[in-house]
Amino acid sequence: MPELPEVETIRLALEPRIVGRRFDEVEIMDPRLVRPFEPQAVAAELEGERVASLERRGKYLVVRFESGRALLIHLRMTGSLRHAVRGLPDLDPHRRAVVKLDDGSDVAYKDVRRFGTWHLLEPDDVEPYLGDRLGVEPLGRAFTSRWLGARLAGRRAPVKAALLDQRAVAGLGNIYVDEALWRARIHPRRPAAELDPEEVRRLTRGIKEALRAGVARQGASLRDYSTPDGSRGRMQEEFRVYGREGEPCSRCGTPVDKIRVAGRGTWYCPSCQRLAR
Ligand SMILES: [Zn+2]
Repeated sequence: MPELPEVETIRLALEPRIVGRRFDEVEIMDPRLVRPFEPQAVAAELEGERVASLERRGKYLVVRFESGRALLIHLRMTGSLRHAVRGLPDLDPHRRAVVKLDDGSDVAYKDVRRFGTWHLLEPDDVEPYLGDRLGVEPLGRAFTSRWLGARLAGRRAPVKAALLDQRAVAGLGNIYVDEALWRARIHPRRPAAELDPEEVRRLTRGIKEALRAGVARQGASLRDYSTPDGSRGRMQEEFRVYGREGEPCSRCGTPVDKIRVAGRGTWYCPSCQRLAR
């Protein structure tokens, strides 16, 4: 599932290709993408809109139009976007929507599992919608250990579960939570409220480092994720613990262990990340 680094990689690649461009023709083939609205109605609303900026909030791509409206794209499990300069020749059965831009290029949305969403919001609805669902951006200046400490305080849930809550840290998912906890040397099952200030500082730093590493390597291509030009990310080659059960921890050599936390497969180092202090 694409997390912050993957969505940011897509944003960086698409931004120069769609900002300033007009949506000339929009075709939405899958009603699930825009429900409860009618695909034809949403497509008609989008046609004629000109892109003012392409932003990212958490795992949302935010296409802001000059009209003030915004299209919020969430890729969920298997969504991806592809840009093609001279239109898209092949007919992919998993293609769910195509936008033809006023320079003749296409942006196609593909989604095998069909959990992704396109949500067109009126100008006044954009910030409340995002604000209700998302905490601060972990790569922004507002994300400090004081802020994170306040979000974790009073939470009995395992720290891993607390970090997966998008209202705590926008954009984290299963991969980068495991990577951040390893960097911070914190066991994923530790109750969030029990972390001391030094551990919260390490965790804040670990989150930023893990996410920056992911962005620098164009994200992680495990299954469906690829960048808008079709190339793959390289972060999966550099995971410290995620998916590396039985392999030696790069810090201490202890085999990485896999457990379940918050219903998710979770990888950690039993020596570096101890449950009891
Ligand atoms: Zn270790």
